[in-house]
Amino acid sequence: MFQTTIKSPFLINGGIGLHSGQKTNLAFHPAPANHGIVFHRTDKDVFLPANYRFVRPSTLCTLLIKDDVEIQTIEHLLSVCNGMGIDNLLIEIKSEEVPIFDGSGFIFYEKFNQVGVKELEQPKKAIKITDTVYYEKNDIVIYATEANQSNFTFSIDFEHKQIGAQEFSFLLNERNYIEQIVRAKTFCMEKDIPKLKEMGLIKGGSKENAIILADDGHFENIEVMTWLNEPNLHKILDQVGDFFLADNMRIIGNIYSHKSGHATHFEFIRYLMEECSDKYKIVNLV
Ligand SMILES: [Zn+2]
Repeated sequence: MFQTTIKSPFLINGGIGLHSGQKTNLAFHPAPANHGIVFHRTDKDVFLPANYRFVRPSTLCTLLIKDDVEIQTIEHLLSVCNGMGIDNLLIEIKSEEVPIFDGSGFIFYEKFNQVGVKELEQPKKAIKITDTVYYEKNDIVIYATEANQSNFTFSIDFEHKQIGAQEFSFLLNERNYIEQIVRAKTFCMEKDIPKLKEMGLIKGGSKENAIILADDGHFENIEVMTWLNEPNLHKILDQVGDFFLADNMRIIGNIYSHKSGHATHFEFIRYLMEECSDKYKIVNLV
């Protein structure tokens, strides 16, 4: 398989940042092989690669920082790049946050699909797990074992009557990603909303772009949902995005996660890339 980029540039107008509430446009440009997924903060003229080396750990979103310039909430866009196998892009943005749109990855998928994806002349590389990589922190566990495909199994345990303990397994390829994951919206516990607002966050949050898990154990806005296990599917959407921070390569292996989130995804990827070089190899995807 070969690396890819988009066939032509395009713009997405006027989305709103989930946390900042700021309105901004995104301009997407094709990029050459081995360029990777790179953001350009045009108002500061700083280029930020979507790479774990530039991540500042944060529990609520994935945040890049370079030369004191930040871009937050990159994970859904990055997830669609990984899900659709897009390795190289230059994304211009004028503010600190990628817009949330409908809370899923759908608009990115739709636009990438409209303009089309083209192959470049360099082989597509992947990280193949060759020995078990195990990470745990408190009650959070992530581990990866050797396999010939990219399988994600994610389990959650929420104090919410409609969700509770659940597990979902997902084989990552473009078709499965589009059918099973890309529409999964972000979510929020109703009880956390006042605290998040007090912290100056979720200024752009709404009942249209986030599933609200109500205190009484119901879904506050079930009308915006596609699946009843959508929060679990969104956790996988986030993880597929966060794991693409590993030099924008797909990870080939069985990946098991329990209760992990953005900060622990980042820590796992940093641990894998920097401390477990004997437990994976870089391969050309066939
Ligand atoms: Zn998310």
